[in-house]
Amino acid sequence: MPIRRLPETVVNRIAAGEVVERPASAVKELVENSLDAGASRIEITLTDGGRTLIAVTDDGCGMDDGELALAVERHATSKLPDDDLRHIATLGFRGEALPSIGAVARLTVTSRPAGGACAWAIRVEGGRLAPVRPAAHPPGTRIEVRDLFFATPARLNFLKSRPTEVAHTVDAVSRLAMARPAVSFSLSEDARTLLSLPSAGIEGDDARLQRLSAVMGREFSANALAISAEREGIRLFGHAGLPTLHRRTSTHQYLFVNRRPVRDRLLHGAVRAAYHDLIAHDRHPLLALFLDVPADLVDVNVHPMKTEVRFRDAALVRGLIVGALKQALAAAGHRAASSAVSAPWTGSHGASGRGAWRPIPPPSLSTDSLTLALDAGFGVRGLAEDAAPFARGHGVSQPSAPTPDSDDAIPPLGFARAQVHATYIVAQTADGMVIVDQHAAHERLVHERLKAALASGGVTRQGLLLPEVVELDSTAIGRLTARLAELAELGLILEPFGPGAVVVREVPAVLGDLDVAGLIRDLAEDLATLDEATALRDRLANVCATMACHGSVRAGRRLAVDEMNALLRAMEATPHSGQCSHGRPTWVELKRADIEKLFGRR
Ligand code: ADP
Ligand code: MG
Repeated sequence: MPIRRLPETVVNRIAAGEVVERPASAVKELVENSLDAGASRIEITLTDGGRTLIAVTDDGCGMDDGELALAVERHATSKLPDDDLRHIATLGFRGEALPSIGAVARLTVTSRPAGGACAWAIRVEGGRLAPVRPAAHPPGTRIEVRDLFFATPARLNFLKSRPTEVAHTVDAVSRLAMARPAVSFSLSEDARTLLSLPSAGIEGDDARLQRLSAVMGREFSANALAISAEREGIRLFGHAGLPTLHRRTSTHQYLFVNRRPVRDRLLHGAVRAAYHDLIAHDRHPLLALFLDVPADLVDVNVHPMKTEVRFRDAALVRGLIVGALKQALAAAGHRAASSAVSAPWTGSHGASGRGAWRPIPPPSLSTDSLTLALDAGFGVRGLAEDAAPFARGHGVSQPSAPTPDSDDAIPPLGFARAQVHATYIVAQTADGMVIVDQHAAHERLVHERLKAALASGGVTRQGLLLPEVVELDSTAIGRLTARLAELAELGLILEPFGPGAVVVREVPAVLGDLDVAGLIRDLAEDLATLDEATALRDRLANVCATMACHGSVRAGRRLAVDEMNALLRAMEATPHSGQCSHGRPTWVELKRADIEKLFGRR
């Protein structure tokens, strides 16, 4: 076959494959253009998730008729004045977005420059160009993309469901908006408002935090530390969440390079290194970090979508991020411990808000002792007899109980003195007192024990004296029976029992006395929210939370003192026991000196 030059339309369709993957990528390109045009207001509307219509309207610099004609041409850009790819200051520079979109959809660009006498419009449909004609439009630009991918049906077939495509678009716009707090953004689909982000005022720390709060949630801004550092001309700033605020995935970790949202593995690695000792390994903190990098130290021309970058010195950037995060986190630990602010994990101000209650890091005992302590049988029936030498047998406060002579003998979480509201254990430590949320602590122990057991191939089960029949609807039964093997791995042995029930024969020993029916119903509900491809062990924290809710150490259950002490000892021996699986602390400490301060003795 002879070699031939491809026609422009085909070239553009090929390029479009890399630039415009889905409605979200078209929106991203158009919003980037609006930002590059200096817009202060950007309005995005979608119809049918963006398949039928994407419209982006801005109040930016606009284009006159000559510029319009060029704008839809391939490799035509106003953003590279001097052919130098080392000094890119704009989001765009490849001159590919408009021609690509025009090649695969019906594109109309209507624009009017500031001070222009009238507006102009140009249309490109599936690569076919119509001449520029006069139009009516205020200063700024409106771009309409209709019937995306009508000219490339193969791509059309790859689009996901409408909600999925909309979610991608919300994400893309949110990312761009996080780096431009002064610009107001709105995104709606049909009549539904998906994002409404008014300008946060003049750009700066306050505006940025306000915008981050609007996008990532108030919880984030209330629990975030300001980050600021500089090394060799590279500046790092932004906000990082406290370790007690975290999610199941790293999708809420945002990185911006010269205000361009990027996806870089470097970020997640650096974050993991910085939070290493502070957060459970399967949880991820939230953060938004901004790098200002001199243009010649970073290459953004890596991929047509421009979401990847190459740093000239990646190790330097990584070191900068890890160092700044660690420093901020260390300073925060100190601050939380010394100032009279409320504990940082809630952001709320309860009765203890003004006091000196504070989280202290979980005791760092070795994992080797994990099995040992748990095998002492906490939560099951027999509880370690020797675990409660001081207050055995009393479920009530013993204010005058003797203090042990030697402080060395007192374990880190102390000895249980009382249970309050059938929910909290109060323990006396060597130099203060500790309050434990018994349910949160138990949940963490269940989690850690099952995790360890899964890793070593077997969860200890306990046979039920009387197998329990649990009635359920057929969908719930279907969900459970589809996962019998997985449940067995977690220590739950059950089988279908007639048309409307399952029979439960064995349960994980760690749960102790158990509300079996409640557990099975809740698990069936959990399974409904899981897609079938997700393994239960990948959702272990959730499964354990559900299990612990029905185990023997629920909130509201009275514990004997030796049960309490057994729980304290097991916590000391368990990694991550300072936080429950949802990241809330499982215990807080009040030092003796703090108590004295409260009473004005100091
Ligand atoms: P690039 O952004 O890489 O330059 P595009 O194809 O996205 O390439 O856009 C081509 C040109 O069209 C831009 O360089 C810019 O001059 C002009 N343009 C596109 N969108 C707008 C807009 N919303 N406002 C003003 N000018 C625009
Ligand atoms: Mg562009």
